[in-house]
Amino acid sequence: MMNNADNSILALYGGTFDPVHQAHINTVKAMAAVAGLEQVILLPNNVPPHRPQPKADARQRLMMATLAVQGDPLFRVDDRELRRDTLSYTVETLRQYRAEIGPQQSLAFIIGQDSLLSIDTWHEWDKILTLCHLLVCKRPGYSLDFPSERLADWFVEHLITTPESLHQSPCGYIFLADTPLFPISATNIRERLKNGEDCRDQLAPAVQNYILTQGLYR
Ligand code: ATP
Repeated sequence: MMNNADNSILALYGGTFDPVHQAHINTVKAMAAVAGLEQVILLPNNVPPHRPQPKADARQRLMMATLAVQGDPLFRVDDRELRRDTLSYTVETLRQYRAEIGPQQSLAFIIGQDSLLSIDTWHEWDKILTLCHLLVCKRPGYSLDFPSERLADWFVEHLITTPESLHQSPCGYIFLADTPLFPISATNIRERLKNGEDCRDQLAPAVQNYILTQGLYR
């Protein structure tokens, strides 16, 4: 595998972020500390018109992502997927980034453990590790019980147990970090907000205020 000259990793974190919550931010911060990430780019996903729509529109989800990480130099927010009105496949976004940074820099895509278990449903999933590493954050309620032997074999084949190799190669590895467990989901937060419950404990204060002023999830 090619050598990564400057050793830094560009990490991406995609999601619907409807809304972005503290499990998103805190698991990624923990991953950044373990894996030595200097920059994480939040990528709010576009949901194409024929799919069930997020409750918050693209502009609101982008604003919440921006507010959640405001002032934290670890994060940037990229609205490239929202600027398209078609489905943006992760593999296509990774190809774009790879074209922008060149073949040698390490590129990583961060996911939760639930996403790992269904990654073989993603478009061209078997190309993903040719473009980036996968950094997996733990999520309560999800084990490493893969739904197929093929996926389990793929996981074991690419798994590394220490993060050093992530810095030395541009792509190709899966790293599962022992990140803290947060029993939080956007679905549950939307339910609670609908019932008039306070979700301050699970949302950044600026995100909570934005949700209230926009009248979201009522
Ligand atoms: P929903 O509850 O509507 O399914 P979500 O909370 O899973 O939403 P998404 O925006 O769809 O949020 O997820 C973005 C990424 O965050 C995914 O990779 C997902 O696995 C991860 N993620 C979400 N919640 C957690 C959590 N509590 N712990 C670890 N990872 C999480």
